[in-house]
Amino acid sequence: MTVRDCIFCEIVAGQVPSIKIYENDSVLAFMDVGPISEGHTLVIPKRHFEKLDECPAEILSDISIVLGRVAKAVSQVMASDGYNVLCNNGRAAGQLVEHVHFHIIPRKKDDGVFSKWPSFEYEQGRAEEIAGKICAKL
Ligand code: AMP
Ligand code: ZN
Repeated sequence: MTVRDCIFCEIVAGQVPSIKIYENDSVLAFMDVGPISEGHTLVIPKRHFEKLDECPAEILSDISIVLGRVAKAVSQVMASDGYNVLCNNGRAAGQLVEHVHFHIIPRKKDDGVFSKWPSFEYEQGRAEEIAGKICAKL
């Protein structure tokens, strides 16, 4: 993928405008143009990776440092009661922009955002079975 194909690479390159919050050599934070709540911010690596699992560990480390700092600032400025950090990976998970990004979404008590969390219970032994398979991949 080239800069031309990716809106976030274009933002990094300064070819598409954005409202920047913070940047360093490897990471950029900017305001989401279609916010879920006021203060909704995106944190991205400057290099193009599609999904979280494709990001080298050192870049994930850089991102996590920025995530914490920006989340704290966003939360304070918006006087939020909490915030979500969300990273959609793959179209099935809601990823529309194929350049890995972390949403910081400030939340107010009873704001109704993500009001339904569709949890369920495993059948006996199923969680252990899945966990065993995941462990074997690590
Ligand atoms: P996702 O569904 O996780 O891929 O989210 C993509 C996010 O990128 C959405 O929240 C969009 O509002 C946001 N977005 C798309 N284009 C831009 C842009 N040019 N500037 C800022 N945010 C953007
Ligand atoms: Zn990109």
